[in-house]
Amino acid sequence: MTTDRQTFTDALLTCEECGVEFIWTITQQRKLAEQGAALEPPARCPACQRLAAPAGHQRGRVKWYNRTKGWGFITLTNGDEIFVHRSGLAQGVDSLRDGELVEFAVEQTARGPQAVDTHPLPMDEPSDSARYPARNP
Ligand SMILES: [Zn+2]
Repeated sequence: MTTDRQTFTDALLTCEECGVEFIWTITQQRKLAEQGAALEPPARCPACQRLAAPAGHQRGRVKWYNRTKGWGFITLTNGDEIFVHRSGLAQGVDSLRDGELVEFAVEQTARGPQAVDTHPLPMDEPSDSARYPARNP
């Protein structure tokens, strides 16, 4: 228990990215306060926060990746799929796992768009795999 006198209330916010309404819970606010972070309401819903990528990069989930063949597909947040080749993996990444959340840049090639600089994102939420179950082809 913290001893500060600040009171928290659940706040209903609208995501500026996707327009969905989401609740900024007391628990989340308290966590911020405990971390000593500024108590500013998030502009985006939890899903968008997790899926937002740095400029020039996108995030998606590995639909499947065949390590032997050295290629596979990533499902983007808009439902499109993008090809990923072994040569498009970031340095130090030798394979991708099905269902894995990845970040990548998109490069236009003669054969269409291709993911480059692809690297997995750390999984810090245990509920994540439940929300996005991996599906094998
Ligand atoms: Zn959103």
